[in-house]
Amino acid sequence: MRAGPSLLLRTPSGGGRPLRASAALVLSAAFLMVALAGQAVADESLTAIRFWTAPDHTRIVIDMTGSVEYDAGTRRDPDRVVVLVKNASLDGPVAVTPVGDGLVERVRVNELDGGAQVVLDLTKASEYNVFPLLPYAGKPHRVVIDVFRDADPRIESAREIADRPLSHRVVVIDAGHGGEDPGTLGNGELMEKDVVLDIARRLAAILGEQEGCEAKLTRGGDYYVSLRKRKELASAWNGDLFISIHGNSAPNRRATGTEVFTVSDRGASDQTARELADRENAADIVGGVTPETGDDVLAILVDLKMGDRMQKSMHLASFINGELTEEGLGPVHTKRAGFVVLKSLAMPSVLVEVGFLSNNKDVAKLKRADYRQQYAEALAEAIDGYFVAYAPVAAAPDGTHEVAPGETLWSIARRYGKSVAELRNINDLADDCTIYVGQKLNVSGT
Ligand SMILES: [Zn+2]
Repeated sequence: MRAGPSLLLRTPSGGGRPLRASAALVLSAAFLMVALAGQAVADESLTAIRFWTAPDHTRIVIDMTGSVEYDAGTRRDPDRVVVLVKNASLDGPVAVTPVGDGLVERVRVNELDGGAQVVLDLTKASEYNVFPLLPYAGKPHRVVIDVFRDADPRIESAREIADRPLSHRVVVIDAGHGGEDPGTLGNGELMEKDVVLDIARRLAAILGEQEGCEAKLTRGGDYYVSLRKRKELASAWNGDLFISIHGNSAPNRRATGTEVFTVSDRGASDQTARELADRENAADIVGGVTPETGDDVLAILVDLKMGDRMQKSMHLASFINGELTEEGLGPVHTKRAGFVVLKSLAMPSVLVEVGFLSNNKDVAKLKRADYRQQYAEALAEAIDGYFVAYAPVAAAPDGTHEVAPGETLWSIARRYGKSVAELRNINDLADDCTIYVGQKLNVSGT
């Protein structure tokens, strides 16, 4: 049972002083509240069951009228996950929910004396996790059951990509949010998770048709992908570019247009950059800090590694700015998140906020399929421009490359159209070795 409102009602000076009449009234009112709350606990209802199938897990979401306690366990023959939602009853036609995604066959609910028993019939014994979710974005109290697949087919596919021809480019497209996380809801007409997934898919389709280019989506459907998983996928695929797609929102409903974010690691060492960052932060405070700026941008970009790719990221951002502006899809603002970055990006990366879902005009545009297609095409053009600018170069005349500050084995390998493994091999470098500034590496391939 959940705890009711606090019963502790103390007189200010404590001890055995008699309660005054008014305090006694308050006290009895408090008891009444507790009694009502106690009754509500026994009466919580299970109102709906939803599910999301992701490549690596299936998420079952149980909507509740209030917070509840639960017990979870597994049963064999057949394999099941069983969750008893204590003191809850069934309210609504949710007795059996067919899932049939190869991992979870169906979800059944049995009403028992102790509460509502939720049974997941599995195709085989699988790892699982149960946790509560608090009300958010119009969603009620929820109990979430994740059932995991043995392997993530997206990670498995990384092996094929590792063997790709060196001219082959991999663009990691990261549609924000998904599943139980709708992102920003804007004016209520559009959900961020839907808009960004659509643009991401369109971009992937355009890039996928191009010779020598492969687009990988961290999220290809409506399901939740953790930030950790997004990074894991991006690095497993060893992408040449990472583009995260989000939708903006601001308390100032006039805020409009695209914002392209890159991360700067100059915040601490460069006074100009610091002042710029401070100014941007101040502007954000005046204009209203969006949750995006606080959560998505920082969390996604900071945690990715960033070395000499900062310059490339900014270059990509300027290509995106140029293409969107040229196509009449502006206004576009490129921004650098102003803070000290301790880690480096794994690959050149940008985060594109495709528009403000808090702005009526932006929403009207983003609701149009032809606009989203045009937007995706402009992003694809920008990525093309970037790849032309950073096409692999021929080896130096003597076949060596002198390591410059900020360079990594990865960036040198890509520059000379080689794989990291190949570069290690040619130079007889151990897997755990580090390179140093001034070191000469053989990049000629012999
Ligand atoms: Zn977002």
